[in-house]
Amino acid sequence: MLENKDQNKTALAQLGEFGLINHITQNFTIQQQSTIKAIGDDAAVLDFKSKKTLVTTDFLVEGVHFDLSYMPLKHLGYKAVVVNISDVCAMNATPTQITVSIAVSNRFPLEAIEELYEGIRLACQFYKVDLIGGDTTSSTTGLLISVTALGEANKSEIAYRSGANENDLLVVTGDIGSAYMGLQVLEREKQVFLVNPNNQPDLENYSYIVERQLKPEARTDVKDLLAKLNVQPTAMIDVSDGISSEIMHICKASNVGCNLYEEKLPLDPQFINVCEEFNLDSTTIAINCGEDYELLFTIAMTDFDKIKGNPNFTVIGHMTAQQEGMHLITRENTKLPLKARGWNALNQED
Ligand code: ADP
Ligand code: MG
Repeated sequence: MLENKDQNKTALAQLGEFGLINHITQNFTIQQQSTIKAIGDDAAVLDFKSKKTLVTTDFLVEGVHFDLSYMPLKHLGYKAVVVNISDVCAMNATPTQITVSIAVSNRFPLEAIEELYEGIRLACQFYKVDLIGGDTTSSTTGLLISVTALGEANKSEIAYRSGANENDLLVVTGDIGSAYMGLQVLEREKQVFLVNPNNQPDLENYSYIVERQLKPEARTDVKDLLAKLNVQPTAMIDVSDGISSEIMHICKASNVGCNLYEEKLPLDPQFINVCEEFNLDSTTIAINCGEDYELLFTIAMTDFDKIKGNPNFTVIGHMTAQQEGMHLITRENTKLPLKARGWNALNQED
């Protein structure tokens, strides 16, 4: 479908580099006051006035971070923006601008790049961030995308990984694990399709978890939710590699330990069903597998009443003295040391 041999598709060479840049960036509008000059000069110009500026960047490489056989390009563009915006949110800041750099091989026609940029445009519109620049170059094989996101926050709002204190509560937004099981379903369907291309996958029973994988959202709402509740998170991180590894990052940076409670983990019923279908332990997946882009943060125990019963937040544990270590307390009340297994979780079962 993406092959350039198709007579109806436009070869990138027909437009040239500048023609391509003009074409793909023409539908973007500016929404942020801090954007003084966006695309069209040698550099963008921004003005954050009295606010602090946050900067984060990510690289996505075809075959390493995404597989175009089940990731539509529009979703890929959207997700590439989301993962960066999520990093800004993880500092308790507000995302404001992005730059997007792409390297494309001539295997991609113009229509493919249009799809990619439509996803990027939708994300910019939804999250009210401005596309302020980027770079366009060629690659010998696949597609590479690098997104940089900028954000703003008052100095006192910024939440570092290093701010957690002993006795703070550990809180997570939304539910966890679903994005990974969505990927398992997509990979299974891809294998079925490779054997028999006439087999159209029926993903109806998996709609939530597949959407969590293909169209994750960044929690731009959390900063405002917490501000309205008058809660300042002491430490914060986003869930890209699995909460086990994210908890360890907070503990290490903050010099504290942690008790995480298995029975408190927020799991979606569809996620639990699919774990059973795949014969996988839902707790192992939920704590070791990532890409949910929820936020994990700590708050002072005295703030508990402010978030209690709020459907956006689940208290899943508390911080301890560093020498107590980092543990998962199981439903049977056994204490297991937390391990940072990230994406290798399933290869290293012990
Ligand atoms: P320069 O030669 O100064 O690097 P370019 O010709 O690469 O400038 O880019 C022209 C303008 O288009 C710049 O504002 C740049 O930031 C923007 N731009 C280039 N490629 C992209 C892209 N893939 N996405 C968004 N903006 C881009
Ligand atoms: Mg350039």
